[in-house]
Amino acid sequence: MSAKVFVITGPSGVGKGTLIKRLLERVPDLALSVSATTRSPREGERDGVDYHFLTEEQFQERKAAKDFLEFASYSGNHYGTLNSELERCLEKGRSVVLEIEVQGAQQVRQSKPDSVQIFIAPPDPAVLRERLTGRGTDSAEAIDKRLKVAEQELGAQDDFDHRIVNDDLDQAADELESIVRTATCG
Ligand code: 5GP
Repeated sequence: MSAKVFVITGPSGVGKGTLIKRLLERVPDLALSVSATTRSPREGERDGVDYHFLTEEQFQERKAAKDFLEFASYSGNHYGTLNSELERCLEKGRSVVLEIEVQGAQQVRQSKPDSVQIFIAPPDPAVLRERLTGRGTDSAEAIDKRLKVAEQELGAQDDFDHRIVNDDLDQAADELESIVRTATCG
């Protein structure tokens, strides 16, 4: 099995987190890269597990030190993948999943052209608002911001190697697993 980098992108509310959780259960050899962010932790999120939560100053320091493989601003906060996260996993021969937004995905496409890029799309953009509202983690204002970004993200989906429509969760999880298994075993 060759170690690969999988980039999984899709608009907020599309169900990336759930699909990735399923993927990691089904393919236990995969590692999930823990991103850095300046966003505040949501209830239940743990530092070092869900994200490395950094202050603006810490984030800028890491950026100046060229510690990031990629970084982007999203909805008023900074997010980035630390090179150290990736190296830690790849050195052990494990494939890595990056759950990142489109600007970051573009940067990884440039620096790691052999990464496998997957876009998760909603069956209908209207479900994004329903899911974000139902999740209850963001204010109405934050949801509106995320939906604006989602419109741009949906416009970039053709740049990805694979596109999965998350209509039926089981079917989408099967498709994702199949893409990952084909890339790592092929
Ligand atoms: P959330 O605030 O909902 O956790 O994440 C907001 C967006 O930032 C999501 O689209 C998520 O995929 C993206 N994101 C999370 N980590 C990173 C990262 O390290 N780099 C980039 N470019 N985007 C990220």
